Amino acid sequence: MFDTAIAGSLPKPAWLAETEKLWPQWKASGAELAQAKLDATLLWIKAQEDAGVDVIGDGEQSRQHFVHGFLEQVEGIDFAHKVEMGIRNDRYKAMVPQVVAPLRLRGRVHATEARFLRAHTKRRIKFTLPGPMTIVDTVADRHYGDRMKMAMAFAELLNAEALALQADGVDVIQFDEPAFNVYLDEAATWGVQALERAAQGLTCKTAVHICYGYGIQANIDWKNTLGQEWRQYEKVFPALAASRIDQVSLECIHSRVPAELMALLKGKDVMVGVIDVANEAVETPEDVADTIGRALQYVPRERLIACTNCGLAPMSRAVAEAKLRALAAGAALARQRLGV
Ligand code: ZN
Repeated sequence: MFDTAIAGSLPKPAWLAETEKLWPQWKASGAELAQAKLDATLLWIKAQEDAGVDVIGDGEQSRQHFVHGFLEQVEGIDFAHKVEMGIRNDRYKAMVPQVVAPLRLRGRVHATEARFLRAHTKRRIKFTLPGPMTIVDTVADRHYGDRMKMAMAFAELLNAEALALQADGVDVIQFDEPAFNVYLDEAATWGVQALERAAQGLTCKTAVHICYGYGIQANIDWKNTLGQEWRQYEKVFPALAASRIDQVSLECIHSRVPAELMALLKGKDVMVGVIDVANEAVETPEDVADTIGRALQYVPRERLIACTNCGLAPMSRAVAEAKLRALAAGAALARQRLGV
């Protein structure tokens, strides 16, 4: 009961990349960089295990950014001529690559790090991929002329990689869809359809992570415009409850999401965000156990997974390590409170 897991990303060590940045520059190149990425992955596997986390991730140490890591293996994308684009409904500007031709995978994307992760922990492992709608919102389209059509094209590629990750021994494949909290009507219709296409044929656990983004200033400013109650999840949760996705991740601690929205996820495992990523203050085990207690009003105990609100990538390494320990200790305390 109350498995613990991280949403996905963890900070990169200072010898691997720039620290506390969302798009950090690597500190090495070629074979040296490839080795450094795996060394950092190993470090975080050990840190998650030592903290007592149950489902282990690679901390996304091998990718510069959670979306563009996947795109680097896709043909039909022009990375040489990036253009500025407003993303997440113009919340912030980013330099993004352009889709200029039909999309095709060049080959495996994450085989190296997934197999490495599998080889170095006996615990269950989770691997994250960007969701189709979020990818569509993070590239400039010069070819498809239709967001849904392009999302389905990306979904096919994601599905090929996801099936291969399953064969590598991955236990949970998670698609990250922060865009679901921005394009509410589209998310509930073609967003979920594209997600199901990406997960087609998978027999391992499938998950979707939906959040209010990393703890960066543009996101904090945006959240301040959302009012007293954040009801963005309300539209997409019923569509996800009717889908074949097994697990849904949501923000909980320090967010203004009404807890009762979790009741819309009947029949799903719910990854409850009990660790804030927009605040350097480390939660106490009591804070974590209290948040789990609130969620238990709406989520059956056997379906609750304690998780972080989002990725920890832009935080300091020391804070992230302390937050991992708080996550596991808080879940243990929650079990103790229930007497199980
Ligand atoms: Zn997130």
